[in-house]
Amino acid sequence: MAAPGAGDAIAPVESLNEGGSSDIVLVCEHAGNRLPPGYGTLGLPAAEFERHIAYDIGAGALTEALSRRLDAPAFFGTLSRLLVDLNRPFGVPSSMPVLSEATEIPGNRDLDAEERERRRRLVFAPFHDRLARFLDARDAAGRRTRLAAIHSFTPVFLGRSRPWHAGVLFEPPEAYGRTVLDALRAEPDLEIGENEPYRIDRDEDYAIPVHGTDRGYPAVLVEVRNDLLGSPDAIARWAERLAHALTLPLTTDEVSHVRA
Ligand SMILES: [Zn+2]
Repeated sequence: MAAPGAGDAIAPVESLNEGGSSDIVLVCEHAGNRLPPGYGTLGLPAAEFERHIAYDIGAGALTEALSRRLDAPAFFGTLSRLLVDLNRPFGVPSSMPVLSEATEIPGNRDLDAEERERRRRLVFAPFHDRLARFLDARDAAGRRTRLAAIHSFTPVFLGRSRPWHAGVLFEPPEAYGRTVLDALRAEPDLEIGENEPYRIDRDEDYAIPVHGTDRGYPAVLVEVRNDLLGSPDAIARWAERLAHALTLPLTTDEVSHVRA
């Protein structure tokens, strides 16, 4: 694989509405399916980059719709999660996966330390440094922040159908997660998973623990089944219901964390 030159980088992060008035900061790490020059298709047929293994189908459009509806800042990962998964601690096996669902990723086999470091500098560090600087500035300005990460999941994973329309994932303190979960469950036609189809795990997740919980922000991760995000109307409907759920007052005192 040819090493990319320093001038070839695609910005790994895009933002919307950084000056937005909302307390909510949206993060969509898996919005994009691009690869920087020099990486080809990581040895995969190009069609694999249209699948959920490469990005969260519909999640970017949903996050954009939410950002506009809420007047909320939003940060998007532009590059495929197969290159570096922005929602993993850098360097864990799933951060540059050799296997995703049942698909082998030839371009991730036997990565040496130099290539790992190149990807960290190209993708992981700029994305998370930019988000951290943005949040630092909000803290310094005394702004209240809630962090909401928006993802989508595949209806069938390794041959098993998933029953949920959406999942709400959270770790302690749970006030925000429970509020969002209860709000979505109030719609009788929706099957909403609690910490499904995944759970937040500090060893396998990044944005919620590091940019949310560790800063003292109410933080929640929402996963919407990707076949429910197939049209602009469907996306608008999910944006409407999530905008409602994410902005409800919390049952316990919301922590307002301002860094010294
Ligand atoms: Zn995701």
